[in-house]
Amino acid sequence: MDFKEELEEIREAGLYRRLRRMESASSRVVVVEGREMLMCASNNYLGLADDPICKETAMEAIRRFGTGSGGSRLTTGNTALHEHLERELAAFKGTEAALLFNTGYMANLAALTTLVGVGDLILSDRLNHASLIDGTRLSRADVQIYEHCDLADLEKKLAAARAGEHRRILIVTDGVFSMDGDIAPLPGICELAERYGADVMVDDAHATGVLGEKGAGTADHFGIQDRVAVQMGTLSKALGAEGGYIAGSKEMIDYLINRARPFVFSTAQSPAVIGAVLAALQIVQNEPDRRKHLLQRAARLRKELLLAGFNVLPSDTPILGVVIGAADEAVEFARELEAQGIYAPAIRPPTVPEGTSRIRLTLTASHTDADVERIVDALSKARTAQNPHS
Ligand code: PMP
Repeated sequence: MDFKEELEEIREAGLYRRLRRMESASSRVVVVEGREMLMCASNNYLGLADDPICKETAMEAIRRFGTGSGGSRLTTGNTALHEHLERELAAFKGTEAALLFNTGYMANLAALTTLVGVGDLILSDRLNHASLIDGTRLSRADVQIYEHCDLADLEKKLAAARAGEHRRILIVTDGVFSMDGDIAPLPGICELAERYGADVMVDDAHATGVLGEKGAGTADHFGIQDRVAVQMGTLSKALGAEGGYIAGSKEMIDYLINRARPFVFSTAQSPAVIGAVLAALQIVQNEPDRRKHLLQRAARLRKELLLAGFNVLPSDTPILGVVIGAADEAVEFARELEAQGIYAPAIRPPTVPEGTSRIRLTLTASHTDADVERIVDALSKARTAQNPHS
């Protein structure tokens, strides 16, 4: 097989991607290919990926349960740890039950291919994450895309759908949009769902541990945990490890256990991961100051970048999209940042729409006020280097 031409096309479009080698843990300061840099792109929002307590509980889990589970949850892999974490996640999310998956990506595929199918309708936000898009494609349900966070467009599509007689209608949205950092208008979405007999699924990959009174995500942020039928989340971002989950009714979880192929046909997560997340979940709930400081610092960074004249997308979260425009310009901008010791790779199509390539900055609870200054300064210098006459 020969892929020279295909690769050349990718290169010519400015969309070639290469792997970067991390030589340290994912912390505030990282070693990338031999060079120390300030990490400004990680989803490790609360700094828990390298937390000593989480690491210790992971090691304890290995000592007791070993490194692998030897089979799927339905055969040999269902340890007491997995069940413990699922009870904790359900309590955290305010639902009857929760179910773990190996990744957030798999959790989304599982939910969408199991809970809806032929004869059903999915209404999906235009900027939803790729795993939701792939899940809707595989579900074999009818799919309609509504404009980003546009309640009027969503209502128009719901009103048209009711006449069309679908068995189930599921509205699917990111809670926090991964590349823009804005928050879905969840109360309005739930109101429309209730009016038109639909259900709501929220992907809280970026909100879990970050938003809400108890850090439980977007529904918690709006105080409407009981109005969202399917709450999906990841263990891979604020919770500092890897994996995903679906939280909801006991009946729904029981159905997923029986029918969701990514659950049935994949080996259960390693005990180490479950041990780490059990500790992380405690920290999220017992140390609200971590997310408070994180959100304050992110708001400050956004304000200072706007003052410096950058095109920063609206956001109330630690995700800040600084739009550069063309893919090759964004790559060059990221290179300039790297020269100054700032690690924040360019995000290009198909991850974001054409012409909106950007630097996606994320802060973590470990970043300091001095880091915020350094980031603004580095971005300003990178801009000058790119447009010396501006
Ligand atoms: N949903 C969203 C919104 C995401 O940003 C991501 C990860 N980038 C996922 C789902 C997939 O989660 P995971 O990385 O745990 O597979």
